[in-house]
Amino acid sequence: MRAAGSNVSCRFDGVNSIQMNHFFDYHHPFEVLREAAGQKVVFCYECQLYHVHYGTIALDLSERGIQTLNITLGRYLAMYDGTIDPKRRCIEVETPCEGIRLLLSTHDLHAFKELLTDSVGEFEERIRLRRLN
Ligand SMILES: [Zn+2]
Repeated sequence: MRAAGSNVSCRFDGVNSIQMNHFFDYHHPFEVLREAAGQKVVFCYECQLYHVHYGTIALDLSERGIQTLNITLGRYLAMYDGTIDPKRRCIEVETPCEGIRLLLSTHDLHAFKELLTDSVGEFEERIRLRRLN
């Protein structure tokens, strides 16, 4: 999803999407906030977007978007955690990206929520440290 008002795109499409490590050879300044097997979150300063990768999901989220999605994941967890097979991907989760819903398990909800929370926390911490220096 492209941010409103941004003409330049650093979306990782076409051939660049084939390999995660090659996602990032574009010219916008960015910071990697989280990286683990099948997970990666970077913040692009030009687009002011979080690029979130979790499994086969790749979403571009604004600061507000990532917070909204995090709250939504928490709501679904409150509803379904412990009530169904944790590996069963049967929970359809709304995202801030129009028309995009994610099919997740409660295991995914936990892991994805942790990824978003950690990434936002990491970003805020880096901004805070930069202000101190
Ligand atoms: Zn960008």
